[in-house]
Amino acid sequence: MTARLLLLQTNNEDDDAFGSVNDFFDSEVWALFKNISLFFVAIFWLASAYWVYKDAKRRIEDPWLLAMAVALGLFPPFIGPLIYMLFRPPEYLEDVRERELEIKAIEESLGEERCPVCRADIEPSFLACPVCTTKLKQACRRCKAPLEPLWQICPYCETPVDAPRAVESF
Ligand SMILES: [Zn+2]
Ligand SMILES: [Zn+2]
Repeated sequence: MTARLLLLQTNNEDDDAFGSVNDFFDSEVWALFKNISLFFVAIFWLASAYWVYKDAKRRIEDPWLLAMAVALGLFPPFIGPLIYMLFRPPEYLEDVRERELEIKAIEESLGEERCPVCRADIEPSFLACPVCTTKLKQACRRCKAPLEPLWQICPYCETPVDAPRAVESF
């Protein structure tokens, strides 16, 4: 039964080989092929637009600019995402925020002194840490001003810093 059907089909194909090629473009197979191609083009179009949306969300904070980027991602199809790539902000928002935080941390560490033992905030004039009582600086033996470790003379009253005594008093 199947063999006879196959034979019939081959006979038909032999009869009009060129006719079947011409018929192919009108056939259902061609229609299916066209539909599948259109389907993939549409999928790719939506995927590229979605990519633009995802990328823009990480780079653009302003909701109107974000909406404009998504619109560009949708239209013109495929060219919009390319245009977006040319004009998108160069940095991710999280990178910008991270850098801002780092700069802030550096500014804070430069601006504020901290106790080397307990990390408590200390003023440059403190002689000892008020939290853990660690001795931070030596006081001038005449005017009691706080002295930096490298100073050889008190800048406030010109009294020479007694180095050996400084070591002893620590
Ligand atoms: Zn401390
Ligand atoms: Zn002094």
